[in-house]
Amino acid sequence: MNKEQFKKNQPIVYRVLSNALKHNRLAHAYLFTGAKGKIKQDTAILFAQSLICSHVDEDGFACQECDSCLRIQKEESYDYKYIHGNIERIKKKDIVDLQDFFSTTSQEVGNKRIYILDGFDQATKDASNSLLKFLEEPSKDIYAILIANDKNNILPTIQSRCQIVTFRPDSVLEVKEQLKQIVDEECAQMLAMNGYSYAEVLELKEKEEFDKVREFAEAYSSHWDSFEEIGIMQMDRMVPKSKYMEKQWIRLWIQWMLYLIRQKNLDVSTYTKIQKILVESLDVLKIPVDTAMLMDQIYNRIRKVVSQ
Ligand SMILES: [Zn+2]
Repeated sequence: MNKEQFKKNQPIVYRVLSNALKHNRLAHAYLFTGAKGKIKQDTAILFAQSLICSHVDEDGFACQECDSCLRIQKEESYDYKYIHGNIERIKKKDIVDLQDFFSTTSQEVGNKRIYILDGFDQATKDASNSLLKFLEEPSKDIYAILIANDKNNILPTIQSRCQIVTFRPDSVLEVKEQLKQIVDEECAQMLAMNGYSYAEVLELKEKEEFDKVREFAEAYSSHWDSFEEIGIMQMDRMVPKSKYMEKQWIRLWIQWMLYLIRQKNLDVSTYTKIQKILVESLDVLKIPVDTAMLMDQIYNRIRKVVSQ
């Protein structure tokens, strides 16, 4: 993780954790919450490294390069466990295994041991109850970091045993500035407005669909009154059952369309009608839906509006 950027983007979190590390005033459990994106995970790993690293910087943060730091990065340390609850819900068994892990692994006296529970707001009730017992009997050198997008889904009794660290969301302008490093300005603007994070875009832009969807929206919006164009969309571009019919790409296509219609010289009534069609379709994507059918409806509804 880039510590300079962390300091700039999350000054309060940076200061709180730095003070704790420098003065060795550590809580036994932390709850990282707030801002979407990878920042909470990256910070949790840096914080875990900082508890163990013996080459910390002047603010108390880990070097991220020594053996201890790298072992944490690779999840190979005996003093450290990262549970990926954002991939699969954390269950009671995960917490029991965690307790076993820390009670059986050979540990040198005085070593700090750390576990990170990512996505704990999605954990099962049994897992929460087990963790609560674990937290109620804090073992001297064991530290917990819970990560949750939604703090309200975590038992108040667990929250009260944690120091809560709230990450502030990035502003649209800040996200746009970051995104400009990896995509062009127009794209950065559109994605930032729609709430994409830097980490999300970094992942999406690796896929060929990312640029294609934009091309498709640009081509289509120039000829949306023509049946021929609709045919091309259906047969050559966003073909039913293709990867393009995944919700994430349809969502991106609609977001591009919403962006593009603002650049066109449409009269107010036409603009409003098309915008309504697109916004409604974005809502429909939140429920289970036949995406090919949804796309057909969009083409036809827009064609009706523009051929009036
Ligand atoms: Zn280190």
